[in-house]
This record gives sequence, C-alpha cells and structure tokens, in this order.
Amino acid sequence: MKKLFAALAGAALAVLLVGRIFAAPAPAAYAPPPAPAQTSDAAETDFLALVNAAHPVDGWPGQLVPAYPAVPVRETGITLDAEALDALKTMFDAAKQDGMEGLYLSSGYRTYDEQKQIYERERDKSLVQPPGHSEHHTGLAADILALGVGMDAMGGSRQGRWLAQNAWRFGFILRYPEGKRAVTGIAYEPWHFRYIGPEHARHCYENNLCLEEYLQ
Ligand SMILES: [Zn+2]
Repeated sequence: MKKLFAALAGAALAVLLVGRIFAAPAPAAYAPPPAPAQTSDAAETDFLALVNAAHPVDGWPGQLVPAYPAVPVRETGITLDAEALDALKTMFDAAKQDGMEGLYLSSGYRTYDEQKQIYERERDKSLVQPPGHSEHHTGLAADILALGVGMDAMGGSRQGRWLAQNAWRFGFILRYPEGKRAVTGIAYEPWHFRYIGPEHARHCYENNLCLEEYLQ
C-alpha cells in the first residue's frame, strides 16, 4: 500500500511539474465557428482513417478515454481512443524498460475549437493542420515528448530515436517523417505518432511508407 501511495504521489508530482513547464497561455476570446456535423455511428473506429489537408475528418471517435493515470500527461484532461491508449501505455512501459525515462503524452484528442485555437496561434503553418483536418480529431494521434527535451530536440534525443525505431511494434507510426513533407504536407514532427494497429504499422515501418503512400 505504501508503495502504491508513493507511486501515486510521484505521478502527481510529475503531472504538476510537467503542467508547470508547459502551462498553456490563457485562451483568447473568440466566436467559435460551427463545428462539422458529428456522425452518429462513431462507435466503429477506422484505424486507417486518412486525415490531412485534402481529407477532412470523417466520423468522430466514440471510444475516448482519459489518458491519465494510465500514462504521464501534460495535463489531466487529455483523452485518447481506448485502443490507442492501451497501446501507448504498453509502449511507454517498454520504453522505460529500455531506459527511456520521462516520456509523456503532450496532446491527444482535440475538438474542432481546440484545433482552431492551435492553428491560429501557430505561426509555422507547416506544423499544424487547419481545424477539421487534424489527425488529433480522431483520437488516434499522440504527441509524445520527454521531460527536459524540447519539441525540436525530440528527433535527436535518445527517447525520440527509440520511439522512431520501436513505435511500429505497438501499432504506431511516426506520421510526419523527415523527407516526406511533399507527400504529407507537414514538416518533420518527431513527436507526432499515429495509431494504425501493429500489422499496418509494421508494413509502413519496414517499407518506409507514410500513411498517404501506404493507402494509395
Ligand atoms: Zn500532433
């Protein structure tokens, strides 16, 4: 029991620390646009859904679950698709066993309005899709960072390299790899992983295919 309390206290502290470092600025006041109609048969998750600038999200997730306390998070409100979260937890456990400390989920599911705010705030539009076109709307995309490692430094970090090499084993692909910008429309994002399931992820990894190429 004592161990459990210690673990919980440790997790809570980690959340506090991460929350402090990445405290988001207060959202600006704005009039939200009408969100796209949400389909009613969202329970069936399409793990291969292609969402990009040319393909708006079609169908919204029905299996969203809180990511915390299953995995360390930037803030406790983050949710993910249930199956993707299971896979993420397994991946984080495996990473820890390999000595990759400090991984946490920085962003998961986003609403249309949340994406709109992020899109309007981000100066570099090569790093963010407009609202309605973000993979984060599916609940299948996970932005993964490591404590003490900046976003830009993720790719060169031990943790980032481990993720790039091993994520496929857990059903995730590095969604916006280096050298694929002409196809994905998005610059290299070493932190953005997308759950598509182990079989598909293995095929993408072994053949160096991004999702657009895989689905062609
Ligand atoms: Zn992302």
